Amino acid sequence: MNEVNIRGSRTPKSSPITDAYEISDTVLGLGINGKVVQCYDKKTRHKYALKVLHDCTKARREVDLHWRASGCKHIVNIIDVYENTYSGNKCLLVIMECMEGGELFQRIQDRQDGAFTEREAAEIMREICLAVKYLHNMNIAHRDLKPENLLYTTPDPTGILKLTDFGFAKETFSKDTLQTPCYTPYYVAPEVLGPEKYDKSCDIWSLGVIMYILLCGFPPFYSNHGLAISPGMKKRIRTGQYDFPNPEWQHVSQDAKDLIRFMLCIDPTQRLTIDQVMRNKWIAQYTEVPQTPLHTGRMLREGEDIWPEVQEEMTRSLATMRVDYDQVHIKNLDNTNNPLLNKRRKRGTGEIAEPQPQ
Ligand code: ADP
Repeated sequence: MNEVNIRGSRTPKSSPITDAYEISDTVLGLGINGKVVQCYDKKTRHKYALKVLHDCTKARREVDLHWRASGCKHIVNIIDVYENTYSGNKCLLVIMECMEGGELFQRIQDRQDGAFTEREAAEIMREICLAVKYLHNMNIAHRDLKPENLLYTTPDPTGILKLTDFGFAKETFSKDTLQTPCYTPYYVAPEVLGPEKYDKSCDIWSLGVIMYILLCGFPPFYSNHGLAISPGMKKRIRTGQYDFPNPEWQHVSQDAKDLIRFMLCIDPTQRLTIDQVMRNKWIAQYTEVPQTPLHTGRMLREGEDIWPEVQEEMTRSLATMRVDYDQVHIKNLDNTNNPLLNKRRKRGTGEIAEPQPQ
C-alpha cells in the first residue's frame, strides 16, 4: 500500500482509462519516467496529454501536489487520474491539458516579428511568478523550475505559458516537523524555521536564471558563451559569479539587473521571497517597463548548439541545491540546541511544548 494518498475529492479512477479516452501513438515528449502521449476524450473528442507513471510513493506525491496546484492559470492542469494495472504493473495515468505551443525559449528563438523587448520579458516573468506564487502560497516548492518545464498551450499569440513537471515538488511543511499550524514561531529558534525557506528559495534562484536568459539569450554562468562548460563553471555557480556583459546588457534597465541580483543571491536566506518579487516594480508595473529591443532571439539562435548543455547545467545545479538544502534541514534540526526542541526530543512526541510565560 502507498502511504501517500491523493487528497480530498481527488481520487484516481480505477475504471479502465480506455473506457473514456482513446490513446494515440503520437509521442509529445520523453521524460525520465516515461513517455507523454496524446489522447482524446471519447465523448468530446478533446485532445489531452497522457503521462504514465509507475505507481509508487514518489509518483503518488508528484500527482498529489500537481493535482492540488491545478487551479492556477499558469500551471498545466491535471484533468483526470486513473490507476490501472497492466500485466501486473500498477500505473498512474495522468491526463493533462495538452501543451501544443512548445517551450518558452524555443518560441522566442523562432520569432519572426521584430525583436523581443524588455517589457515582454517582464510580462513573461510575471506569468511564471504567478505560478510560483500560487505554489508557495500552498506551501509547495516546485524545485525543478527550468526552461523545459515552461510550455505554451498553443503556438499562436493567444497561447498561455504554463509550468509543469512536479517530479521534485515538495510540501514545505509536514506533520512530522515543527512546521505545523500549531507551532509558535515566537518561541522557536530562527534556524528551526529554515526548511520551508530553503525549499522555496530554489524556485527563486530558477526565476533569476530564467529572467537573465530572457533578457540576453544566454545563462548567467556562461559569460564566455559559445564555449563548452569549463572546469570553473561549478565554482562560478557556487560563488554566484556572473556579470551583465555588453553589448547584450547595455540598454537593459538597472531595475531588471537589480532584481536579478536579489534573486541570484548566493545565500538562499537572503534571496527575495515570491511576494517580494511580485511587489518589485519591474514585475508589478510590467506595463511600464521600457520597450527596449533585446538581443535574446539572436543569441538563442547563435547558442542553439550549446542549449542542451545549458539545460543539463541547470538540471545539475538544481539537483545539487536540493541535496545541499535538504542537508541544511537535517543539520539544523539535529544540531539545534533549542530548549523547546530538546523538551520535545525528550518527550519523543511530534508536538511542540506549550509556550512558557517569559
Ligand atoms: P519527466 O518528469 O519524466 O521528465 P515531463 O513531465 O517533463 O516528464 O514530460 C516530458 C516531456 O513531455 C516534456 O519535456 C514535454 O516535452 C512533454 N510534455 C509533458 N507534459 C506535456 C503536456 N501536458 N502537453 C504536451 N507535452 C507535454
